[in-house]
Formats: sequence, structure tokens, C-alpha cells
Amino acid sequence: MFIEQTKRVQPRKGWIEVVAGCMFSGKTEELIRRLKRAKIAKQQVEIFKPSIESRYDEINIVSHDSNAIQSTPVPASANILLLGHDVDVIGIDEAQFFDDQLPYVCETLANSGTRVIVAGLDMDYLGKPFGPMPHLLAIADYISKVHAICMNCGDLATHSHRIVNESSLILLGEKESYIPLCRTCFVKEQKLIQLELNAG
Ligand code: ZN
Repeated sequence: MFIEQTKRVQPRKGWIEVVAGCMFSGKTEELIRRLKRAKIAKQQVEIFKPSIESRYDEINIVSHDSNAIQSTPVPASANILLLGHDVDVIGIDEAQFFDDQLPYVCETLANSGTRVIVAGLDMDYLGKPFGPMPHLLAIADYISKVHAICMNCGDLATHSHRIVNESSLILLGEKESYIPLCRTCFVKEQKLIQLELNAG
């Protein structure tokens, strides 16, 4: 488990934490756990998510166990810079859906003394690096890769396999449209899809 630095030094020191993983791996739960601890310690906490991401609730970040924390939906990562200056801890959920400026935004905030915690999907449904996530992983001070359980074999899952026939990168209302798979089962499924495409 990730252990935060708890010593509060003045002037404040900032850094970037990234929680990355596939769907159903508990990224949001881990983000909320860290943010709640900071909140209890009377640190000023702000949470942002892309306004595109409105699966469950417009205002709240809702993890799958309904352990909700208030959050602000923003249309672009630049809004985080404007709204989040002078905050102790900034949480960013569903980071994969943000624009390419998000790494710059996180870096600017961290350099000015903010603890930035970013949660997001590391890979899309084809197993490719997702949006600004690879860049964020490169510049992060701390990285936690979380896993789900493979629905086929019960091993640790790293991939989000799409079970509906739809090729857009972003699919909303998506919880029912994916299952977590391990690498081996994911590759097997991808080969089957390829065979079907070639046959049809
Ligand atoms: Zn498997």
C-alpha cells in the first residue's frame, strides 16, 4: 500500500502521484482513500474530473462502493490550474479523458507546492496507452499500478476488454460494456475478434 509523506514542511513541497490500472481495479477508491486522509488532516482538498465523465453523478466522484467525495467537473485541464492554485492536495479522476495539457498542469501545480494525485486508465480497450496517461506516468514522483481480477481465469487483470461491438475510444455508460482480463486472456480475445473480422 502507498504510504504518504506526512511531514508538513514550510514552504510546502509538492509532488505527483499516479494511480493507474484497468477498469474495476479500484483506482477511484484508492484516490478517495488518499484524499479522505488528507481531508481528515485538515488539508485543503479539491477534486476535478473531466466533464465528459458523467456516468454516475454530475457533482460527485462516486466509486463503485458509493464512497462519494465532492468533485468539480471541468471541460479542460487548464481550468484545474485556475481553480486549484493555493490548494494543499488536488485529486484528478479519469485523467485519461483529459487533454494533452494535463501533464503540464500537474507539473506546474506540483512545482508550486501542491500534492497532485491523478487516477486514470493506463490503457484503452485495445491495450494502447490512453490519452495523457503515459506522459503522466513518466513525470510522476510515485506510481501505483492497481489490478482487477480476470473474469476468465481469476488471475490478476491488467486489461479492459470491451464486450460490445463499438469502435469509438470513449464509450459512456460503459460499466456494463467491459470486463477485466489478464494479458493472456486479453490476447486470446483479441485474436478471436481478428479471426471474426477476417471471416466476416
Ligand atoms: Zn485470465
